[in-house]
Amino acid sequence: MSRYAAIEAGGTKFRVAISQEREVVADTTIATTTPDETLGATVDFVLSHGPVVAAGIACFGPLDLLPGSANYGAITATPKPHWAGTPVLDRVRSALGVPAAIDVDVGGAALGEWQWGAARGLSHFVYLTIGTGIGGGVFIDGKVHHGMGHPEMGHITLERVAGDDYAGHCPFHGACFEGMAAGPAIEDRWGASGTELAARDEVWDLEATYVAQALRSYSYVVAPQRVIIGGGVMQVPGLIERVRDKLGEQLAGYATSHIRQGSLDDYVVYPQLGQDAGLYGAIALAMRAHEEAG
Ligand code: ZN
Repeated sequence: MSRYAAIEAGGTKFRVAISQEREVVADTTIATTTPDETLGATVDFVLSHGPVVAAGIACFGPLDLLPGSANYGAITATPKPHWAGTPVLDRVRSALGVPAAIDVDVGGAALGEWQWGAARGLSHFVYLTIGTGIGGGVFIDGKVHHGMGHPEMGHITLERVAGDDYAGHCPFHGACFEGMAAGPAIEDRWGASGTELAARDEVWDLEATYVAQALRSYSYVVAPQRVIIGGGVMQVPGLIERVRDKLGEQLAGYATSHIRQGSLDDYVVYPQLGQDAGLYGAIALAMRAHEEAG
């Protein structure tokens, strides 16, 4: 049985695991401080557990994933101090001396859900996470779509709902999807924490309307078999049901014959791997790196 190193590299913490095939046999959490400290501790943890055959990294972005780029696998223009330009893939690969693969966190999570979660057996789906930010991955014909880098599905334009005069929270676009519907935007718009807002219908009706607008766009652009939607905001009780209802209204029956008539319950679903989707995605990336290295 092969052993792999799986690294879920988040903006506040790294989860690092050793797996035997897909079973996690050791894991730890490391604070995200500077690249030297955090990547150093990551590599030390892996090396202290004996040899692995490959490493997989599901990393916060933005990342350079342009095929053939000299900086492939490096973090690009992050506002996070110290990390802009960090060649995460190269550092891990050279320190461990094994094949390694990297994707953005949502791309990794999409791969994890495809291998072992809510997208098993599908050939095209969308994975979306709504938390402190909004990110998404598109899985097409057996792989995560990258294009010239990777999609930024949280930064699409939405149609402002009448009566909502919130300016938006995105430092780049103001009222984009993330700027209108990520956790910080909700708290800023209503002036209260998500917990305090939990019982207020108007808050989650508006949120569901915006999320449904985005899902409508993804549905028409990608024609996915399923949309998997996770993240902290989606843990609010009843929100996914509201999103399904609003999406049904917005699609209005047009060109959605692949969605089961009368119900979006199988079309808009939670991730099955929950908070572990990214880590399992990193395991799946490691397995791919191992396979591709022959
Ligand atoms: Zn934006």
